[in-house]
Amino acid sequence: MTAARDAEQTSDWSDYRGVLVVVEQRDGEAKKISWQLLGEGKRLAEKLEVQLMALVIGHEVGHLAQEAIYYGADKVFLCEAPELKAYRTRPYSRIAMKVIGEAKPEICLFGATGTGRDLAGAIATHLPTGLTADTTELDVEPPPSRLLLASRPAFSEKMMATILCKQYRPQMATARAGVFQALPRDATREGEVIRIANGMTEEQIATRVLDFIQERDKINLEEAEIIVAGGRGLGGSEPFAMLKELADALGGIVGASRAAVDAGWIKHEHQVGQTGCTVRPKLYFAIGISGAVQHIVGMSNSDVIVAINKDPEAPIFNTAHYRIVGDLFKIVPAITAEVKKKRA
Ligand code: FAD
Repeated sequence: MTAARDAEQTSDWSDYRGVLVVVEQRDGEAKKISWQLLGEGKRLAEKLEVQLMALVIGHEVGHLAQEAIYYGADKVFLCEAPELKAYRTRPYSRIAMKVIGEAKPEICLFGATGTGRDLAGAIATHLPTGLTADTTELDVEPPPSRLLLASRPAFSEKMMATILCKQYRPQMATARAGVFQALPRDATREGEVIRIANGMTEEQIATRVLDFIQERDKINLEEAEIIVAGGRGLGGSEPFAMLKELADALGGIVGASRAAVDAGWIKHEHQVGQTGCTVRPKLYFAIGISGAVQHIVGMSNSDVIVAINKDPEAPIFNTAHYRIVGDLFKIVPAITAEVKKKRA
């Protein structure tokens, strides 16, 4: 108790300033979450009146440093080396810790992806500092406290908890994909790129990446531009084939409500919503989905929402941009046929 109070009195973090976003990439292609985090990071940085920084690690990823500037970064730390082609915890965390040690950001943000979670966890244990995982809301208290308010669902998703890291810096958080909005890409923006040397040789890295085996039929809702989602209104697993046909015709993928997943009609990896994925596609079809709040939080940021429901009073219509009242079993095949005709 006394030690904690002493720490509170003696901690001086005034040399920690700025917001750092770790850009995640695979084979030189950035994950959408990276630009979404830069958008949110910019908002926090402006509130704190500090710089927005980005960290890009990989092999032949210089173009991503430039992209990070177009998406809002003022300064980008870039570390490129053949040994960094594939993500590995040790070299990536070492580089990130070096940058954090030198740049001293007060806030560090990572995507809540497999890689982001692993990297942020490794850094938080080494530094040491706190880490709030899977955040869905971020804000900052104005100076002098400058505290990051990192919020996430808690207690079986029944309430939101706001978590503070008062004693240590940087304040770190991983954030869910699809929740935050990227800024429009601005190719006239200018910024500084600082190259960082990779201090590790291949021999010093204990792990080897032998191969990447793509999971068969692995779906990636978070990156999808078109999602055709179905709910309890489908009445069973078979009608999901009808949704897949529409999704394939549009170049999209199939999503689902929790009711459909709980009924065993489709796998959990397709679930959109509070306990599923948060998505931000260009086009979202909600078919036979009533529009419960737990579903809406996962898809309401979609650019265009089309709802098909036989109940004109269904709450989903309050969120949808296009409302189609009627039987989904008649409407979906008609839309699919029309799309196929246009594409032929
Ligand atoms: P219903 O609410 O039963 O709606 C079915 C709809 O289909 C109705 O509106 C009906 O009019 C329509 N319909 C029926 N037949 C037809 C037809 N022939 N043509 C057209 N329309 C038709 N839900 C999620 O989706 N995602 C989550 O992540 C999630 N997390 C949750 C977390 C917690 C802690 C809790 C408590 C709940 C969560 N839920 C989640 C569940 C949520 O509350 C709803 O129960 C669920 O979203 C309902 O799914 P639905 O809309 O498919 O089913």
